[in-house]
Amino acid sequence: MLYHSERLYNYYSALQKLTDNSGTRRLPSRYKEFVRMKLEYAHLKSLKRAGRIHDPSGVSGTKCGELTVVCPACPDPEVNLLRDWESAPSERCFLYTLFITLDACFQLKRRMVSSVEKDPSLGIDLGYFVEVEPFRQYLLSVTDQKEMSTCSSLAALDYANSKFSHGYATTGVCLGVCARQEFIQPNSAANLQVRERYANMDYTFASLMRHHGRNLSVVVSYDIVCQWSKSLLQRVKTLPPLVRLDLVSTMVRFAVLKLHIHSHTKHFQHNYSLYYLPGVGCTDGKGIEWPWVNIVMGPGAHTETLNDHWGHWNWQKTVGLGEPYASYETSA
Ligand SMILES: [Zn+2]
Ligand SMILES: [Zn+2]
Repeated sequence: MLYHSERLYNYYSALQKLTDNSGTRRLPSRYKEFVRMKLEYAHLKSLKRAGRIHDPSGVSGTKCGELTVVCPACPDPEVNLLRDWESAPSERCFLYTLFITLDACFQLKRRMVSSVEKDPSLGIDLGYFVEVEPFRQYLLSVTDQKEMSTCSSLAALDYANSKFSHGYATTGVCLGVCARQEFIQPNSAANLQVRERYANMDYTFASLMRHHGRNLSVVVSYDIVCQWSKSLLQRVKTLPPLVRLDLVSTMVRFAVLKLHIHSHTKHFQHNYSLYYLPGVGCTDGKGIEWPWVNIVMGPGAHTETLNDHWGHWNWQKTVGLGEPYASYETSA
């Protein structure tokens, strides 16, 4: 798996050494071409895996978020639910709950190198990232959001607000995964600018919800959910129609990941604990902490590399689902 820029460089260096291990010959550098070739290859592979060749509209007809590996276990009325699921008695409603967990990763900075013109993405919105232009326009329309925390022992926001950002085009990435199976959600990733503004996470959350059934109830976990959820309903009204529609009609409950719950005040611990929320089972929400990867590259390569990495992550999750579910079956 050559998703990591460092591994890509090591692989290239190994090829150079195989060509001349003495270091006495001056070999022409083909590293740029090699990186471009790798990104194109990954993109073509994802088109192939999505079966675009069998669609008469071909590559140009690929829809947003279509080049992703979707979770086969999350409730989807058109795929894996009974026809009358909406009339299920309340004690069985937990079966039709979608668990989403959100987070921002500040390690995923991208240095101010290259440009979109020099290094365009091959299909940024076809995979795990949100559509660039509507997202950019939305951020321009958002005035500074007052993010004063009322949860005294919570440092995440203040830390995020004061995060060092000089020399970086992107200061991190925010992302949504399904909390039970840990699949990266289609169109659920967005590049952060300077800090973890609510606007980024509002957009990311609404964007990923487009890909889910409208009447499902949803549990959203996020480390600063006690603050983020406070005026979320007002804020989603300002989102562009592209992502706004599905969210308003959705029934949403909020929780803090178990990993982070003790950093909140007692009041918020009681109100947002996954231990106390009915119908959540043993969900911990910590799956969002795993799928991060460190990279330093141009904007197109950054997107393509993460898309490739997350596609591989979701595929590994898909092939790994069978065994634990079989063991649940036998132990039930
Ligand atoms: Zn899932
Ligand atoms: Zn809190």
